[in-house]
Amino acid sequence: MHLIVNEIFYSIQGESLYSGFPCVFVRLTGCNLRCSYCDTRYAYEDGEPMTIDEIINRVGSYKCRLVEITGGEPLIQEHTPELIRRFINIGHTVLLETNGSIDIGCADPGCIKIVDIKCPGSGESHKNNLSNLKILSPHDQIKFVLTDRTDYEFAKEIMVSQWPAAPPIPVFFSPAHQRLNPADLAEWMLGDRINARLHMQLHKILWPTMEKSR
Ligand code: SF4
Repeated sequence: MHLIVNEIFYSIQGESLYSGFPCVFVRLTGCNLRCSYCDTRYAYEDGEPMTIDEIINRVGSYKCRLVEITGGEPLIQEHTPELIRRFINIGHTVLLETNGSIDIGCADPGCIKIVDIKCPGSGESHKNNLSNLKILSPHDQIKFVLTDRTDYEFAKEIMVSQWPAAPPIPVFFSPAHQRLNPADLAEWMLGDRINARLHMQLHKILWPTMEKSR
């Protein structure tokens, strides 16, 4: 049983409630979307086949119990759910970063899903699978990447229509790097008293000139 792996690396988690923790990242190859702001285009095609045992051994060499399965879009590979299950079974905390276009029901409920809702500025908002919102677990998280005011209004509208009182899980509003001024987003959120968290991509702050992952 093989998966195509673009890279495995050890860094600081930067895009969730686990932001700031040391984490091992398994970046799987391939994505079904082409977001305008994508910073991992190198993962669309490049990768090497690895067995699940090989991936687990490589991750184990970092001696870190937090692992994130990311991409690309990890759920387009058939064996990703089994990879997640195996990591959970050996006691890892598993984060799954997914673009929100694919049914997340195949992923073990024990993994923490960070689910994107794509906004119009991504060019891919028509691919959102909003039925995913009905099968989230309390430990899962939602993320909107925003490029402008139109995206902000779109995200606000989803918040109101899906969760009229308050979202049951954490929701992050993340300004797209060099597309939306974080201070502008902060002002909009304060003005609307929005029930979401302003979220900065930590690795862009820590390593602003680095194109690939650490
Ligand atoms: S879903 Fe993620 S990896 Fe895929 S194109 Fe969009 S930003 Fe890039």
